[in-house]
Parts: sequence; structure tokens; C-alpha cells
Amino acid sequence: MHTVDLRIDAAWIVPVEPAGTLTGHALIVDGGRIAALLPAGDADRQFAARETKRLASHVLIPGLVNAHTHAAMTLMRGIADDLPLKPWLEEHVWPVERRFASPEFVYDGTLLACAEMLRGGITACNDMYFYPDASARAYEEAGMRALVGAPILDFPTPYAADADAYITRGLAARDAWKHVPTLTFALAPHAPYTVGDATFARIVMFARQLDLPIETHVAETRAEVAGTGESSLARLDRLGVTGPSFIAIHAVHVDEVDRSLLARHGCHVVHCPASNMKLASGIAPVTALVEAGVNVALGTDGAASNNRLDILSEMRLAALLAKVATGNAIALPAPAVLAMATLNGARALGLDAVTGSLAPGKDADAVAIDLSAAATQPVFDPVSHLVNAVDRSFVSDVWVRGAHVVADGEVATIDTTALLARARAWQRRLKT
Ligand SMILES: [Zn+2]
Repeated sequence: MHTVDLRIDAAWIVPVEPAGTLTGHALIVDGGRIAALLPAGDADRQFAARETKRLASHVLIPGLVNAHTHAAMTLMRGIADDLPLKPWLEEHVWPVERRFASPEFVYDGTLLACAEMLRGGITACNDMYFYPDASARAYEEAGMRALVGAPILDFPTPYAADADAYITRGLAARDAWKHVPTLTFALAPHAPYTVGDATFARIVMFARQLDLPIETHVAETRAEVAGTGESSLARLDRLGVTGPSFIAIHAVHVDEVDRSLLARHGCHVVHCPASNMKLASGIAPVTALVEAGVNVALGTDGAASNNRLDILSEMRLAALLAKVATGNAIALPAPAVLAMATLNGARALGLDAVTGSLAPGKDADAVAIDLSAAATQPVFDPVSHLVNAVDRSFVSDVWVRGAHVVADGEVATIDTTALLARARAWQRRLKT
């Protein structure tokens, strides 16, 4: 009999890998890691748990992964809607950022995003924003896992004067936080239209030397790819950016040549259906990407464009959009969508050895979703419900590395009252 920290019994457990739904099983957690996933009777015989959580009407799944966001932009949620990408960025978002983006803004905005994401079952995210040092502090305090993307642009902002300064500040943030096991770092050139060839070349050099992923928005709008003669992805490939640690965000306008290039190099794509729909960017060819062998994850993008950081709703949108786009109701079935929101996200972030599925040896990042309400009865298939019936308010409990960060619907790691007061104060300042 082994004494362990925690035992979670759930009506259904969906480990994601291997595929399928388990009933009458228990997840055993010790030292922040998954020690076993086994039938409850075997757990009775083998383990004595210091704490037991019984979830009689819940489905337990791996923590959801938000593979693309700009977390601090939660403070700009709803500040400008119903606009195309270019005027939305140039006339609304960038002027506000020039005036207000600061370590305090980023810390408060990121913590607000953490409160929203954790409450919605998201245990890991991939962030891209100014002052990554401040966002790292928020993630550590919130107890949330993050790949922190150091932003790089070829034009000056209050954060950095030129590309070299962006890179230097990003690497300094990585050095300051690399001791925290839940934080990893990436180089995040904003987009092909804001970063030139010379800067991409420097980014590739640092990424290869320091073994860092590279992520960038790519082929988000038709305008980005029109009239250049060379697709954005072909250009990035020519510059050496592509590879198994390259994360292509959006990839809406990618033709067959681009798709096979992404597959050949083992690149990852982050599909952001709500953001693409709201900015009228188009429909990413997700089914064709998956068929080509590309790993496709799900992201929310920032709350200024989405306007919610909610992977459960992105799952539903991804499933519906794939069916509409292909005219095929079989496209992206529920298990494939759940994998996109968990294990594929972990792969994209380079974190699949530690999270993304409920497998012994991985960290205990898990989410319990209550299926007892009228809106989720009866339950023939809990995985179908995750995509088609539930929303994030059904999330009851969340664990990150075995820590109980959301308990009975309350975020345990953040002083929400104080945080919401600061968010209201930012709203007053941003309106002036
Ligand atoms: Zn984005």
C-alpha cells in the first residue's frame, strides 16, 4: 500500500491518450505528478490517499491548452469591435498600447486572463505580449502553466526601441524566470508584415542556439498574402524559421504547397476560430491541414478581438466551422476536437512530455466538468458533451501540477476582489 497525496474518482475519465472514456476509474496524484490511472477497486488495494475527491457526476479530462493568446489584452476586452484587422490594430489597439502598456498593465491584465482561463479549465497557455517579465510574474502567482512568447517587432514601442532591444528584453525575462518549472519561453516575432528578413534571421540564430520555439501570426488575412509573389510561409521557410518548434498562428490562407511545407517540417498550427470569424479573416483549412499531417491546436487569440478566453467555446466553433467549410458532417469529430484542445496544444507548446493527457508520469493537470445539470442530461457520450453541450460554467475543479487551483468553481490562487477593482481602474484610465 503506497501513501499518496490525492485520489480523484470521477464518473468518467477521458485521458485523451489512449483514446476512449473510462468509467469506475481513479486518478492517483503524488508529488504533483500522475502516479496511476486505474480501476477504483485496484486503487483501493494499492493506494492510501491523504485526500480523496469524489466526482460522481463529472467527467475528468486533461487541462485545456490555449495555444495562442495575448493575455494582458483582457484589459482591452470590447474596446473596439466589428472592425477589420488593419484599422482595428492601427487605429484602436496600437494607440492604446502606446499610451498604457507597462509592467503594471501587463501584470494586471495577465492575472485577469489567468482568472478567466483557470475558471474555464485552461491550465496552460501560449502568450505573446510586451513585458513578458510582468506576465511571467502573474502566471507564477496564479499557478498557471505558460509558454511566454517574447514579442519582437521592427518598429519602436514604449517597451523596446528596435528589434535587438526586443530580443534582449525577451531573453532577459527568460533568464529571470527559467527556474520556474511551469514557465517556458519562446521568441515571438509578431507577423511577417511587421518583421523584416534581417530580424527573422537573428531570431532563427538565437532560437537555434538557445533551443527556443519560434511563433508568429502567419497568413491571417488575404491581404497579407496578396500580391507578394511569395507566400508568407515560403518566405519564413527560406529564412530558416520553419521546423518542429515553429508555431504558425492562424494559417488561414495557406494553399496546398504551404500545407505540405508545414507538414514536412513538423510545424504546428494554432487555429483560432472565434478570432478569425470576428475579424472576418476567413476559415482556416483545418481538415486539410490535419489530413496533411500537421499538428493543429486551438487558441483564443486576445480578449480584445475574441472577446473571451474560452477554449470550450473554441472547441464547439472549430467543430462546427470544419463541417460548414467542408460540407461534411463527419469532419472534425468530437474526440479529434478534444485532442486539439489538449494534447495537440501541449505538443505545439513543446510540453507534451509533461501535460496534455492523463498519463502516469505526466504532471497532474486536470479539469473536472459537472454533467449533472438538465442541459447535459442524459449522458450517452461525455466527449460529445464536451464539444456540443457544455460551456465553461460547468467546470467545477482544476488542478495544475496537482495543486487545486479551482475548487468548486472558485479560483483559489487569485484575490479576485482586489483584481477586479484594479481592472475597473484600468477601464477608467483607458477611456480617458
Ligand atoms: Zn494573436
